[in-house]
Amino acid sequence: MNTLSLIKKHNIKPKKSLGQNFLMDEKIIDKIIDSVDIKKEDVIIEIGAGLATLTKHLCKKAKKVIAIELDKDFIEILNLELKEYKNIEIIQGDILKINLRGLADGEKIKIVGNLPYYITSEIIYKILKEDMDLVSLTIMVQKEVCDKIFKTKVPLSVILQFYFLIHIVDTISPNSFFPNPKVTSSVLNLEPKSLNDDIDKNDFINFVTNSFKMRRKTLINNLKIYFDESKIIRILNNLNINLKIRAEELDVIDFYNLFIALL
Ligand code: SAH
Repeated sequence: MNTLSLIKKHNIKPKKSLGQNFLMDEKIIDKIIDSVDIKKEDVIIEIGAGLATLTKHLCKKAKKVIAIELDKDFIEILNLELKEYKNIEIIQGDILKINLRGLADGEKIKIVGNLPYYITSEIIYKILKEDMDLVSLTIMVQKEVCDKIFKTKVPLSVILQFYFLIHIVDTISPNSFFPNPKVTSSVLNLEPKSLNDDIDKNDFINFVTNSFKMRRKTLINNLKIYFDESKIIRILNNLNINLKIRAEELDVIDFYNLFIALL
């Protein structure tokens, strides 16, 4: 059954507050599923299963699917729509509060999610911090965020470029969803890089975020709250970085070099 029929059948009133924009374009759904490149032995965590649109496809291809959905109203619908599959586990809860590492239970994990855009960064940071055996993260973001990622302008873009190989799967018009969101979306497939395991992810994420704290301030002025100013100046000089530089002008690798040197 397609998305609009399901919405009618279950008499659903989409909740804006939960970012409920349901995918209805079959071609896009297929493209997202293809990009996850599901193997028979894969364990997949889906964030925000909604009406099971993506979930069904995941269940058909993977060994196991763990679907997380915050909205209690959808749990019964998910149980009903997915009753033919034996490899599904449905969990009601907030992705930001769930112990994903525990759920993953030592398995290699692929994560898929079409989620509210206001928690994109939080979700990505959480997934990184949980340090599970992640194979890929396929996630819908605002196109504007996707554009920024390649310009190294915000903490999220630095973190993403540092930890992942980033593939743009597709750009998706508001018409592919019901109800239509206001913005154009992009699907990203993020593949963790195997390097960089030597630094504490939590500390590095905080360091990058702090570097950007006051947008108009120089990097030194943002960082001197946390580190000795003369030490920062010495390290920047050693790295051949202009002392007046702002975080948004710094290369991704320099965040790493600076972080290591400041430790
Ligand atoms: N994956 C479906 C639904 C997308 S809408 C599709 O592509 O059609 C986003 C879904 O995320 C909604 O079902 C919403 O209830 C759910 N959601 C919103 N915030 C969430 C959170 N913090 N944790 C888990 N699910 C959440």
